[in-house]
Amino acid sequence: MAKHLAPTPKHELNFIKKKPAHANGQRAAAPARHSKDAPTKRAARKPLKLPAFLTRLDAENTASTAGDRRALIFAGIAAVLLIALRFLPLAGWMVPAAFAVPLLFAAAEHVLRAFGEIRNRRYINDSLLTCLAAVLLFATGLYTEAALLLILTTVVLYLETRFAEKSAREEARISAILPRSAALLSEEGEQRVDPAAVQPGDILLVRAGERIPLDGVVTEGITTIDTAAVSGQRSPWAVNAGYKVYAGCRNLTSDIKIRVLRPYDRSTGPKLVQIAEAAAGFDAEQEVRAAAFRRYYTPAAAGLALVLGLSVPIFRGGWVLWLRRAAVLLILGRTAADGFAIPLIYRKSLSLASALGVFVKGKDCLEAMARAETVIFDKTGAITEGRYAVTDAFPVKMSERQLLAIAAAAESFSRHPIAAAIRDAAGELDERMVRAVKIREIPGRGVSAFLGKRQVYVGNAALLEEHGIRYTVPARPGTAIHVAVDEHYCGYLLVTDKVRRRAFDALETLRVNGVKKLVLLTGDVMSVARPIASRLNFDMLRAELRPEEKAKAVGYLMKNKGQRSTIAFVGEGENSGRLLRGADVGIAMGSLGSDQALAAADVMIMDRDIFKVPKIFMLSRTAFRAAVENFALGTGGSALLALLGVFGALSPLAAVILSAALSMLLLLNTLRIK
Ligand code: ADP
Ligand code: MG
Repeated sequence: MAKHLAPTPKHELNFIKKKPAHANGQRAAAPARHSKDAPTKRAARKPLKLPAFLTRLDAENTASTAGDRRALIFAGIAAVLLIALRFLPLAGWMVPAAFAVPLLFAAAEHVLRAFGEIRNRRYINDSLLTCLAAVLLFATGLYTEAALLLILTTVVLYLETRFAEKSAREEARISAILPRSAALLSEEGEQRVDPAAVQPGDILLVRAGERIPLDGVVTEGITTIDTAAVSGQRSPWAVNAGYKVYAGCRNLTSDIKIRVLRPYDRSTGPKLVQIAEAAAGFDAEQEVRAAAFRRYYTPAAAGLALVLGLSVPIFRGGWVLWLRRAAVLLILGRTAADGFAIPLIYRKSLSLASALGVFVKGKDCLEAMARAETVIFDKTGAITEGRYAVTDAFPVKMSERQLLAIAAAAESFSRHPIAAAIRDAAGELDERMVRAVKIREIPGRGVSAFLGKRQVYVGNAALLEEHGIRYTVPARPGTAIHVAVDEHYCGYLLVTDKVRRRAFDALETLRVNGVKKLVLLTGDVMSVARPIASRLNFDMLRAELRPEEKAKAVGYLMKNKGQRSTIAFVGEGENSGRLLRGADVGIAMGSLGSDQALAAADVMIMDRDIFKVPKIFMLSRTAFRAAVENFALGTGGSALLALLGVFGALSPLAAVILSAALSMLLLLNTLRIK
């Protein structure tokens, strides 16, 4: 984990090694980005042999802040010398000799970088072009311009590094939630151990002020915990015996004992850190495109510069003029900031998202979200709270209590929210009631079970129809859960769920941000789904769907979508893995404590705040737009300047200043992401 704290080497920011992955579901296997032994194409090739002293110098310099700061100091010295030289009465050969001093000071950094790149087999690289341009300018008598070029480029590189480091530091903040040790309680007493060595079932002591090291359940003590790091929620939770607590949360008020539920690497905090670390390794298409563009643009500019600088004067003379124009082209061949600062924009957005309690599995997921024109919502748990309550019972030839008791017995092990509502309503089960056995859950339908020798069905109308059992059609609209014993109809229960607070605002905000179509899918009945869909302004509704039919609906929309647009699916994490994976972007709500959500979703909203859906969309769109702008401005700007340069409408001095200004403009644009 500590590897992540290292500043990002600059070369990792502009060139792309990994395939852009929409490889749904395969993300978890992504190698940690900064791990030295991660197999990258570049590492596989044999490095070019350099004299030992150069290798050493280079290793010290590239990508280390110390090196960058030193380069900046050298550039500063060069600048001071440059100004001082203006006041010296120099003449003849003394002029180039004197100006060579600041030039050398300013050039050191770039020469080392150029060697570093060549060693990585990128023979035509930005630093080399910069050095060549400086040589050409110097050779044609533009001493000040030559030094200024090197100085300004150093400043731009320094700022780039600072930006990259700052975002790396922000990214690394998440790993601070991992505790270094756990207090294991055993017969011998308390023992400080490595959290990775703790097993499920072990009892841990978590003191007030400490982070909870592994996911567990409280066995003793009452306290409040701060879950902000893993849930994005600011208000602390009160917990006591029986409550689940998650690794990465901070125990605030008093000591508690917890029984560990999951091993360390499957606990919430460590998993989120893993996800956050891997995310930067999945590149957005925009970055890949920008990198590919630069891969051709730089050599093309160099080639053109060579042709211009040599061929024209061979035939027509005017060496000084054409060599200067060639220098201008070389300067502009270094297209603005590294990769147009697009990776920075996306990385910044990733860390902003995790500060909100939204974990995104890759930069490419953010990009795909920004292009989403259709958002599909699963009703239960995404649009509604997913907490049903029984509101009415209509028994047939039995008491309300009996009806509830039968239903609750059959539902005793179901994890469906309707089952929980029925168990709650039934309260303590009647002692004489036989325990349910051979319970079978029928997705999208209900459950079947045996109470003694009697077969019980509890579920929707479709379930009873499938078994040829006649039932009463409810007079009121609502979700009816019918109960039948041995083909005898026993009546039905009405259950309701509440629409999430701010659901309407959340959906409208999505529209304002460019979402064109909102789709609602549900297994619930039309009479419940329709009013919700119309109240919330959904464009399309499919109700009474079985789970596999929901997957088909998602598949259909995916097949018929616009070419450049994407589809996002928002659902609760549990039991919607296929849907989350089926869309371009799967967004899981209420992911805290859900292994399924963490495995299947691309974006995990840890708490249940539906407004975080538009928030994360807005974040992704701002990033996307900034990336588009940077690419357009970077390529357009430098191409325009290059054109002016070829026709001699741009002086070398203007080229030096404007290209540095363009780079800084692109970097400044990344600051908009906040
Ligand atoms: P959704 O998540 O869209 O609400 P589900 O597929 O979870 O849809 O369920 C669809 C319908 O199937 C529910 O509205 C309910 O009528 C019925 N159902 C599913 N599971 C159960 C269950 N355990 N007990 C009773 N009814 C169930
Ligand atoms: Mg469901």
